[in-house]
Amino acid sequence: MSKFQGVWVFIEQLAGEVAPVSWELLGAGRTLADNLEGELAGVLLGHEVKHLVSEVWAYGADKVYLIEDPVLQFYRTAPYARALVQAVKEYQPEILLLGATSLGRDLSGAVATALGTGLTADCTGLAIQPETRFLEQTRPAFGGNVMATILCRRHRPQMATVRPRVMPMPSRREGRRGELVRVDVTFDADEARAEVIEIITEKNKAVYLDRAEIIVAGGRGVGSKENFALLEELAGVLGGTLAASRAAVEAGWLPPEYQVGQTGVTVRPKIYFAIGISGAIQHLVGMQGADVIVAVNNDPDAPIFKIATYGIVGDFREVVPALTAEFRLRLD
Ligand code: FAD
Repeated sequence: MSKFQGVWVFIEQLAGEVAPVSWELLGAGRTLADNLEGELAGVLLGHEVKHLVSEVWAYGADKVYLIEDPVLQFYRTAPYARALVQAVKEYQPEILLLGATSLGRDLSGAVATALGTGLTADCTGLAIQPETRFLEQTRPAFGGNVMATILCRRHRPQMATVRPRVMPMPSRREGRRGELVRVDVTFDADEARAEVIEIITEKNKAVYLDRAEIIVAGGRGVGSKENFALLEELAGVLGGTLAASRAAVEAGWLPPEYQVGQTGVTVRPKIYFAIGISGAIQHLVGMQGADVIVAVNNDPDAPIFKIATYGIVGDFREVVPALTAEFRLRLD
């Protein structure tokens, strides 16, 4: 096992644009690598993506493993998995981290299976156990009622996925340089098995919920789909995005992609308005990383007030229009 050294982060890119979760993982990976007294590397796959290498260094990687081929222009499981597996076998990292995005979830499962190693999905915490050097992979279990810490004792690399916005964004150091290692992988012409004909970009704003800086979220206390218009107005004035608790989504007031929480999206905005939301643990795990939390609730004992930066006790039908009017006045 001691042959395996270093922490790797899979750098996810689409059409040359890197998913921000990759930078967040480089931040988390830096701490892990420092604790292991090892190096931090990014592994970058794609077609003509060399220009991204300096960005990977800037976000803290000591090394970049680069695999370029026309086959890797669009993500397909088979060639991406085979290329990553080959690089891992050749260079033997101790830890491999991926974002828990649609792509990362698909790729991590295929790679872990091919390598015969363990994979912990949707981690909310990563740390090194000092005496053993094991990666402590923490994630909610049993419906969020317990936090489980999982170890991969007998196989390497130790693999984990982390959802976007769970880890803080590290600072970027312009001009920071590292080492570049090109990994040669030969692909068969028909290896991809599927052809990408066109990529249609989703225009739905909620898809970017995890990157939103201002979020106005409503819960069961909002009472109806029509009442969400008041929240929409507040979001409009602030240039923010709507979101919902599971109770509001289950009531059909907003579509499922707007749901924040354990079974929804994890968000880390600058401001999060929680309106008519009680503050159940499954909701809190998805939004407690917000810089500022403003809670509006007519129950002074609602648990949301325990984590709120500002708590307003009152009926949202009075409080929200008053906030909207005040912000409109100040922002005009
Ligand atoms: P409630 O708990 O019913 O709270 C409504 C609040 O509105 C109350 O505090 C009330 O005082 C207040 N209110 C009522 N009227 C007004 C008014 N006029 N003005 C102001 N305030 C008012 N939940 C999620 O959100 N996201 C998840 O991803 C998620 N995943 C889950 C996964 C599992 C396995 C389980 C078991 C549960 C999950 N839940 C999730 C559900 C979670 O446990 C709660 O049931 C849910 O978050 C409650 O939503 P809520 O706060 O909107 O509703």
